[in-house]
Formats: sequence, C-alpha cells, structure tokens
Amino acid sequence: MSEQIERIKTLIIGSGPAGYTAAIYAARADLKPVMYTGMEPGGQLTTTTEVDNFPGYPEGIDGPTMMVQLQQQAERFGTEVRIGMVTAVDFSDELGGIHKITVDDSKLIEAETVIISTGASAKYLNIPSEQRLRGGGVSACAVCDGFFYKGQEVAIVGAGDTAAEEASYLANICKKVTMLVRKDHMRASKAMQHRVNSLENIEVRYNTEVDEVLGEQVVEGLRMVNNQTGEKEDIEITGLFIAIGHKPNTDIFKGQLEMDETGYVITEGKSTKTNKPGVFASGDVQDKEYRQAVTAAGTGCMAALDAERYLASIESKEAVVS
Ligand SMILES: Cc1cc2nc3c(=O)[nH]c(=O)nc-3n(C[C@H](O)[C@H](O)[C@H](O)COP(=O)(O)OP(=O)(O)OC[C@H]3O[C@@H](n4cnc5c(N)ncnc54)[C@H](O)[C@@H]3O)c2cc1C
Repeated sequence: MSEQIERIKTLIIGSGPAGYTAAIYAARADLKPVMYTGMEPGGQLTTTTEVDNFPGYPEGIDGPTMMVQLQQQAERFGTEVRIGMVTAVDFSDELGGIHKITVDDSKLIEAETVIISTGASAKYLNIPSEQRLRGGGVSACAVCDGFFYKGQEVAIVGAGDTAAEEASYLANICKKVTMLVRKDHMRASKAMQHRVNSLENIEVRYNTEVDEVLGEQVVEGLRMVNNQTGEKEDIEITGLFIAIGHKPNTDIFKGQLEMDETGYVITEGKSTKTNKPGVFASGDVQDKEYRQAVTAAGTGCMAALDAERYLASIESKEAVVS
C-alpha cells in the first residue's frame, strides 16, 4: 500500500452519464472533482451504437462518441479524469467527516464528499451466440433499442415485472413479440401478467429457453428449446431482448451504505443523499425504475448540487463555531 494520501473535495466514482454530469456541475461549482472511470470508461453507452433518445442530438449519436463528448465537457471545467477502480471505501459517519477511498488496492484518497455513479450491469444469458450478437440485434434495453425493430418480429427473455413491462412496450412497436419464460409460470405481478396476456401480438412460451441465437453479423432467428421435452424450434426474429435483471455495481459499498434487497443504493426522498453524510449516489446505481442515460444524467446533476450544498453547510457551521 502506497504511503501517499491525497486529500480532495469531491470524488466521483464512475464515468457514465451520471458521473460525467455530476463532474460538469461539480467542476463549475469549484469542487475540483476527481473522477475514477472504473473498468468501463464511458459506462454502458459505450456498448451501444445508436443513441436516439438523448435530448440535443437531432440525428442521434453513437454511444462511444457521446461519452467522449461528455468527458471533454467535464474536463473543460477542470474535472480530473483518471483511469482506475475504486477497490475499497471507508465512509465517515460524522457530519463533515473525511471519507477514505482506496483505488486499485494501492492509492489512498481522502475526500470531503463522494458521488457514487457506478451503474448497474444488465445480466445476460452468457451463451456464445448471444455474446457475439450483442449490438447486432441482441439488447438488454427495450426502451432504448425497441424503436429500431418497428414493425418487425422480436423475442424477449424473462419472466419478471421488467420483462413483462418491456414485452408490452415492444408489443406497441413491433409486429410480434415472442416471450420466453423458463418456468411454467411468470414471476411478474398479476396485473403485469394480465397486461401481457391481453396483448394479441405477444406469444408467451413457457418452459422455454434460448438454445442459440441465429445469424452471423446480425440476429436472423432464434433456436428455442423446451426444457421439459428437449424439443427445439427455430423462429425468425430480428431482435432479441434480454430482460433477466440487472446487478448494481455496489459490492464495494456493502456494509457501508444502506441498500435494498437487490443491492441498489437507497437515497433519501427526492435527493441523492445516502445514509452517510457527504456521500451521494446518482444514476442507475440508485434507480432500478428508469435506467436511462437522461435520468442518470439528471440525478448526476442533483448529486453535484447536493454535494455543493452539503459542503457549504459544513463551512457555514465551521464559521459560526470559530
Ligand atoms: C446495450 C445498451 C443500450 C442502451 N441504450 C440506451 C439508449 O439508447 N438511451 C438511453 O437513455 N439509455 C440507454 N441505455 C441505458 C444507459 O446506458 C444507462 O441508463 C446509463 O448508462 C446509466 O448511467 P450511469 O452513469 O448510472 O452508469 P453506467 O453508464 O453504467 O456507468 C457506470 C460507470 O461506473 C464505473 N464503475 C463501476 N464500478 C466502479 C468502481 N469500483 N470504481 C470506479 N468506477 C466504477 C464503470 O466503469 C462505468 O464507467 C442502454 C444500455 C445498454 C446496456
């Protein structure tokens, strides 16, 4: 472990839309933010080609370009962007306390405020044909990519509320949606099941799993397998949506921050405040409901404003005491 300890005002963990928006606001408020990018500089949008729903890009933009532009905007105001993983944290319980953060198991940082923007990773089936065709018709976000399959036949994998909601969303856009449910029933709420069953262009296949995604460069079909009979069947589709859940990237915060049962960081009311004073959370890491770039950016802005106000309140308390 290195002996050198660096003291900073604001540390931002994660470089997706939430982290960069927090950085833009924090830098402009003179909080001199330092950001660690983590293992995926630019975040989840670097894994997608076309982003069509972020305001301000009338022609759409590809995800990696958008994230480079966000980085440039954050750096323009003085954000220091560093490559590195936060590997451990020791958050203070005290108002005005100093938070200790370890980067890459070696560097120690002391921060007055911390903004957590580590996102939530979509879960995939992890079969080779699915991995090969990610971005070529395999997607983990119906709201993001459904529009590209307007009038076409698609399939969705999953059985929970999110899968049912995404299937209904796709049914409004696509010609037909085949929904693959691994068990003989859905996990989704009765209301969501009713919604799915009431839509004529959704066909639910129970006891059914993906055997293989068909196509070389892009998705051309799906080989399904009935897990009771072993019977296989091919269907023609152009898009496959995986809706089997997300994993918030919060392992390093366990035992430090309040989280829900699935590991999402809990924030207070409409704010980005966590249960530790001076520690804020923004983006998908604290939002299992919307999970969009623009909502992540919105809460990134909120986190920087919350951090700025927190520091101002500490400073005014110190001024009164002295
Ligand atoms: C295939 C795909 C397509 C999508 N398309 C769209 C779209 O068209 N429009 C849209 O609005 N949304 C889209 N989304 C959703 C969107 O990408 C997310 O909602 C958004 O990126 C969330 O932003 P975030 O900043 O919260 O987290 P993320 O973008 O997930 O970024 C998390 C960041 O945290 C970093 N990190 C994690 N752990 C650590 C650590 N220990 N130390 C340091 N850094 C760490 C990662 O490296 C990463 O930089 C898509 C998602 C996917 C997967």
